[in-house]
Amino acid sequence: MRVDILTCLPRLLESPFNDSILKRAQTKGLVEVVVHDLREYATNKHRTTDDYAFGGGAGMVMMIEPIDRCLETLKTQRAYDEVIYMSPDGELFNQSVANELSLRKNMILLCGHYKGVDERVREHLITREISIGNYVLSGGELAAAVVADAIIRLLPGVLNDETSALTDSFQDGLVAPPVYTRPADYRGWKVPEILLSGHEAKINEWKHEKALERTQKRRPGLLDG
Ligand code: SAH
Repeated sequence: MRVDILTCLPRLLESPFNDSILKRAQTKGLVEVVVHDLREYATNKHRTTDDYAFGGGAGMVMMIEPIDRCLETLKTQRAYDEVIYMSPDGELFNQSVANELSLRKNMILLCGHYKGVDERVREHLITREISIGNYVLSGGELAAAVVADAIIRLLPGVLNDETSALTDSFQDGLVAPPVYTRPADYRGWKVPEILLSGHEAKINEWKHEKALERTQKRRPGLLDG
């Protein structure tokens, strides 16, 4: 898989992809994440990527030209399955969207900043809009990192324990059961006996029960389906 991220603030994306699981996925060659600085595609003297809004109003708007030029360049190099604009009013991101996107080969994530991008970008240059929730961030960079993380960890070989992603919340329509590690007794707060019993079938039964209980309590909507 290849993920290209377009931004006017590439530094914001440095750390999320340079540690832990996301870094290892790249080192192993399972995914290529390439961040593009939109300023490099600006044509004006000061390499600005934003301008005042037509009709007035507070806040700068990201110009269409640098975005279009960057997209054109990338599209001559390979075919893209999706060009996604990160947007607070886009389709709400969830595990099933992550699952769907994890099957794509090449995708572009476009990050807005300031007041967002010129509407013509949304009308003509993208395939889809994704929101990570009903709140407004300063820029699309953190949202793009969230989406990329959720997708990349699903790629075969990225997680050490192959079954690990499958037992996470939402994958089987339930949230995850509680987990514990050593010590078995901390200040008198004990780990449930059953988990120390070594009885695999009983343990699995317990985990399923707890997952169900927790789903009923926290995300009853998941059980409706
Ligand atoms: N004026 C816009 C918000 C712009 S926020 C509005 O009211 O809708 C600046 C940028 O941050 C957006 O262009 C988008 O790329 C990103 N962004 C903000 N909140 C987001 C969210 N919840 N999900 C995804 N991207 C978001």
